[in-house]
Amino acid sequence: MDNTTVIIGAGMAGLIAARALHEAGARVLVLEKSRGVGGRLATKRVGEAVFDQGAQYFTVKDPAFAAWVSRWQESGAVAPWPESVHRRFIGTPSMTAVAKTLAEGVEVKREHKVSKISRVGERWCVEVENHGLICAARVILTAPVPQSLALLATGGVALPADLATGLAKLNYSPCLALLVTLNGPSRLPTDGVTKANGDVRWVSDNQRKGVSPRVTAVTLHLSPEFSARHYSLGEAEVLELVRQEAEEVIGESIATATVHRWKFAHALETYPERCVWLPEHRLGFAGDAFGGPRVEGAALSGLAIAERVRAELKA
Ligand SMILES: Cc1cc2nc3c(=O)[nH]c(=O)nc-3n(C[C@H](O)[C@H](O)[C@H](O)COP(=O)(O)OP(=O)(O)OC[C@H]3O[C@@H](n4cnc5c(N)ncnc54)[C@H](O)[C@@H]3O)c2cc1C
Repeated sequence: MDNTTVIIGAGMAGLIAARALHEAGARVLVLEKSRGVGGRLATKRVGEAVFDQGAQYFTVKDPAFAAWVSRWQESGAVAPWPESVHRRFIGTPSMTAVAKTLAEGVEVKREHKVSKISRVGERWCVEVENHGLICAARVILTAPVPQSLALLATGGVALPADLATGLAKLNYSPCLALLVTLNGPSRLPTDGVTKANGDVRWVSDNQRKGVSPRVTAVTLHLSPEFSARHYSLGEAEVLELVRQEAEEVIGESIATATVHRWKFAHALETYPERCVWLPEHRLGFAGDAFGGPRVEGAALSGLAIAERVRAELKA
């Protein structure tokens, strides 16, 4: 039987799991619905302006993650955020650089949106929109958990009752990212501004960060409450609601605005284990809802599930 592991999702968790398994000699195939890799490590270009629109930076605490970060630093894919008083790392030239580095040499099929997962005999068969069926020995799901559960439900896969209950409790808050250009330079500090209150919670100048070399391009993340309440509003309406607060923080008037809607931005709960692996079914779950709601948490979860699969392959 083909011994491939299919990983759904090319965010941090899926890619680091794929990379670790690939380096251990396992056969891996990553399916990603978007055109690019990275998931919530995302960079968007609007004309000449370039924005990190998802994760803005990452922190490093666990030695296992630190070892990977050293590798990325050596290859130039990440760097400490210059002038930051916090110990923060950023992707260079932008946050997607980390994902691109991880994907090198790994088989990643982009624009492959999985619509259903079902069990056929001993194998898993994954239905991919416009690309037909891909069958494999094992499947790892790294999309936000409600999306992963929907894929299994569509394919008629029933999980053990306790697990199904535990996974169904995992929720995420949304985030509207407002991506703006300005009529002049910003007065923002190099390493961004975090606000504890108000509709605007994070503001960063991508030009100062080195992401948008030609044009001042500012990313604003709006609060979970604001984002939930106004999730479907158009960009002009969102801008009008936060313009005054935004321009006060930025120190310059806004010229243009685009909105990116993150439906599953931040994992609100963390599952008690770093990943879920069902050896008898060869099915697993990983992502920031397991390792902790940040880039490092997603990475640790991906590494944990890779370790489980590696152990099974060795046995
Ligand atoms: C606005 C915002 C700001 C953030 N700021 C920070 C920060 O500053 N620092 C920090 O550490 N963390 C931050 N985070 C959190 C961090 O980005 C995430 O914790 C981490 O990137 C999650 O990685 P993941 O692999 O678990 O999930 P994801 O990155 O969501 O990856 C899942 C992947 O699965 C793909 N997918 C989903 N469904 C399917 C399907 N049906 N078929 C195929 N592919 C599918 C998605 O396209 C995606 O690429 C932020 C997140 C957001 C949204």
